Amino acid sequence: MFPQVLTEGYRSFLGERLPNERRKYEALGNEGQDPDVLLIGCCDSRVAPEVIFDTGPGQIFTIRNVANIVPPAEHDSGYHGTSSAIEFAVQALKVKHIVVLGHATCGGIKAAGLGADPLSSGNFIGRWVSLVEPAVKTLDASGDSKEKEGYLTRLEYAMIAQSLQNLMTFDFVREAVEAGRLHLHGAHFGIVTGELRIRDPETGEFRSVVARDGQTLASSALIGCTEA
Ligand SMILES: [Zn+2]
Repeated sequence: MFPQVLTEGYRSFLGERLPNERRKYEALGNEGQDPDVLLIGCCDSRVAPEVIFDTGPGQIFTIRNVANIVPPAEHDSGYHGTSSAIEFAVQALKVKHIVVLGHATCGGIKAAGLGADPLSSGNFIGRWVSLVEPAVKTLDASGDSKEKEGYLTRLEYAMIAQSLQNLMTFDFVREAVEAGRLHLHGAHFGIVTGELRIRDPETGEFRSVVARDGQTLASSALIGCTEA
């Protein structure tokens, strides 16, 4: 049987959301998509970009993989799912922003930082999260270690920065960024608190976009964060 959680959800969509958004779906279906944002997030079921950012159909082109990792550009005979979606978003859709969205208590980052047994003989996760190694080394170099409190959060942040660097290894991304047509951003979602932090490209700090009184900060946190 098809999962009940999906049939029930679809019924709700048919009854409430689709009637409100029917024209949008018709236009998107007839004219194609034209999103401004490519978002690269984690597969984690708790971190659904369309829910967090309250977006409708056609607004964000989304890639989700284990630990929201952007691999460096590799020109080999491998099958590069994430890289192909980045290529499509930048070259065909001409997105204006790429957001790498990390999150708290990320299992993929934990496996990379603390080690984990392979889940199958293929060890697909182990090989994939070995891409986190440069971020681990960055923390090592700063004197950080897994024994210190908050290490995995700092590794989540460091890997977002590493993914932003890896994005720049794609020629077409670098050219678009240098021409000012494309802007790169890092962000981190705290699941328990619902807090979104945005990476300051100048300092590398992740700052909350919501002040303590719940007001959204009217600062450069939400606009103009451009990764050089
Ligand atoms: Zn994750």
